Amino acid sequence: MAWFDQRTGRVPPGGRWEVEPDRDWLAEWRAGLEPITVGRLRVVPSWLHDDAGGGSPTASTIVLDPGMAFGTGHHPTTRLCLRALQRSDLRGRSVLDVGTGSGILAIAAARLHATRVVAVDTDPDAVAAARGNVRANDVAVEVRRGSVGVADGPSDLVLANLTTGTVIDLADQLVGAARRTLIVSGIGVARLDEARDALRAAGTGPAEVETEGEWAALRATTVAPG
Ligand code: SAH
Repeated sequence: MAWFDQRTGRVPPGGRWEVEPDRDWLAEWRAGLEPITVGRLRVVPSWLHDDAGGGSPTASTIVLDPGMAFGTGHHPTTRLCLRALQRSDLRGRSVLDVGTGSGILAIAAARLHATRVVAVDTDPDAVAAARGNVRANDVAVEVRRGSVGVADGPSDLVLANLTTGTVIDLADQLVGAARRTLIVSGIGVARLDEARDALRAAGTGPAEVETEGEWAALRATTVAPG
């Protein structure tokens, strides 16, 4: 479904135009977002946090204003990653979050005591949203525009909640960037084997798989690049 302010050319086969009343979609979407809890972490939309008096978020709370970026914690893939992340002991570890969107997973890594967290995204809107959320949560996360290549050398753990195609395309780079653990999601269950094969070919060890509905996440050990 896509919205246009006027009819433009022909619609694709099977498509049709509908006239919708002028509504504030963003406000309606925001009003519908509830806080969520995933394991030890609670994700609270910033406007609800502000309504509740604001102040510094607690050590287990992530306050988020996604803006135009992806990552409120309401998508199964984000939740799968938040769960997989909590199965690693991040104390003293470095983390790279590829495709950070709102910054949710990078901020979660910092809350889980990772010592160095870098977050990258190719989309400037996501970079802006992630930087705002990093500030609001008062965590040490460095946000950079770009992809795996803009990180400085390998990190202990790499997160990448992208799409099946992107994960497969970037498999070598993602595995090369991860010293110990790689967590990927955005994988459609129908293409799970394909993604698993690509990661194995790129050098990962056995992967744990978790699914929610039609989505899967893989958490794999990586061979140390020295
Ligand atoms: N990490 C968040 C957001 C995931 S959405 C969460 O788990 O909820 C995927 C994000 O990846 C988008 O913000 C998109 O801009 C970004 N992205 C897509 N392809 C990318 C690539 N090749 N390198 C880096 N970021 C990418």
